[in-house]
Amino acid sequence: MKCPYCGHLDSKVVDSRPAEDGTSIRRRRECLECHKRFTTFEIMESLPVMVVKKDGSRQSFDRSKVLGGMLRACEKRPVSFSTLEKIAEEIEQTLQNEMDREVPSAKIGEMVMDRLKGVDEVAYVRFASVYRQFKDISTFMSELNKLLKEK
Ligand SMILES: [Zn+2]
Repeated sequence: MKCPYCGHLDSKVVDSRPAEDGTSIRRRRECLECHKRFTTFEIMESLPVMVVKKDGSRQSFDRSKVLGGMLRACEKRPVSFSTLEKIAEEIEQTLQNEMDREVPSAKIGEMVMDRLKGVDEVAYVRFASVYRQFKDISTFMSELNKLLKEK
């Protein structure tokens, strides 16, 4: 950051806090040369998280898709929209915080299932049945049995 007073290129950050809009950071900097202070607004970098699907194709992470999948699974279940929104948000946050910018879609599915399990069992089983594409009744039953055993 170039000092607006003397043009020196080095400064140190003395304070930083998120700006009101949440997408930029306000920083107080002190010039290492003339020691005057100035404020900068820096845009927080949010690189998209890429989801790698089973066939190898990539798509940027879409929270609304995760939410949509959960909403379908929770149809007519006593689960509030805000609960699902929170889960989707939490998943996005978790992915954003990881260094890896590429996530296999399977991992996201597992993350959703993990959380749905604690919210509503019927929704969990529905989601899992779509997601894991149970080939037949016996794989479906074994999943149900696993769920029962965990209780
Ligand atoms: Zn300066």
